[in-house]
Amino acid sequence: MKPSTHRPTQAIINLAAIRSNIENFKAYINKKTEIWAVVKANGYGHGAIRVAQCVNDLVEGFCVSNLDEAIELRSHGIVKPILVLSGIMPEDVKIAINLRVTLTVPSLAWFKLVVANLDETIAMQHLKFHIKVDSGMGRIGVTSVDEANAIIDLADKLGIDFDGIFTHFATADELAKEKFDQQKMMFDNIVADLLRRPKYVHSSNSAAGIWHKESIQDIERLGEAMYGLNPSGHTLEMTYNITPVLELKSELTHVKVIQKGQTVGYGADFVAPKETIIGTVPIGYADGWTRDMTGFYVLVNGKKCLIVGRISMDQMTIELDERYPIGKKITLIGQNGDEKITVDDIAAHRGTINYEVVCLLSDRIKRKYIND
Ligand SMILES: *Cc1c(COP(=O)(O)O)cnc(C)c1O
Repeated sequence: MKPSTHRPTQAIINLAAIRSNIENFKAYINKKTEIWAVVKANGYGHGAIRVAQCVNDLVEGFCVSNLDEAIELRSHGIVKPILVLSGIMPEDVKIAINLRVTLTVPSLAWFKLVVANLDETIAMQHLKFHIKVDSGMGRIGVTSVDEANAIIDLADKLGIDFDGIFTHFATADELAKEKFDQQKMMFDNIVADLLRRPKYVHSSNSAAGIWHKESIQDIERLGEAMYGLNPSGHTLEMTYNITPVLELKSELTHVKVIQKGQTVGYGADFVAPKETIIGTVPIGYADGWTRDMTGFYVLVNGKKCLIVGRISMDQMTIELDERYPIGKKITLIGQNGDEKITVDDIAAHRGTINYEVVCLLSDRIKRKYIND
């Protein structure tokens, strides 16, 4: 979808904050580890290309979730290693080889399918892969050292580059350590019994890097914290400073006074209890501003203004304290006067996690990049 540029709704992305979030993370872990920036899902809604270009000199590689995201980076000049974290379809492996994109091997069964699909036009020696170990996350990955070694053995016979092995923790953002320790032990045991150690052994995402920094190995896969968000929401305190990166702003497109008893929006859910000033803001659920945002608020003139009526696809309505002019600035995420709305505030209102709030911001919202 093309971003809607003729509309005042925009996400403002502070690129300098992303850089300082990486630098602060490096200072905090104080260890020589490669940082691979996770820019999947359009850089958690921040724009994968601009984020990747902005951090390119600060990191050694990138992680994405699927092949198309890798293709997008390669076609915009990113030449550093890119690891696709999920399994891709075996028939697409040749595309990854041509683009020198590193693949995740999620199982021996998958790897055998890839090998069965081989023909002489495919230059397998250019394939790099990391074996994924399912140490307890339960999505993808090998579950025994025998399975891992069978993959390595097959790769060796075909001259395929076994470049890494990794796992992913399910509870690194929680206080209880038991599950984390179990996963770590299983992963460490598998790595210890491999036919050989690859160049990269890695297991930490932001949460593991922040709250279990002793467990960081050859690569830190840094996503969330780079975007200035606490992976645990409010559960655990950050251990160093992060700066929020994204603001969401718009402007009033319509202002009116309605009388007691008049209604606003689908279902006529909002019934004015008295004479009420209503403003209309051009954002709706098609922008990722979901329908459960009714009852939350935005900031106008440094004050909280309640979102009233149902959220439509493209617009929503708010209750104003004054008859502001058309074009009056609205803050949906960020600072306005002395008031501030954080991504976490919105996540708490919705009963979800901050990751989901930013990832849902759709392509229709124009992104504006500052402090490049
Ligand atoms: C998304 C993802 C990450 C990054 O996680 P953050 O919590 O955003 O740092 C790391 N590793 C894997 C396998 C992932 O899927």
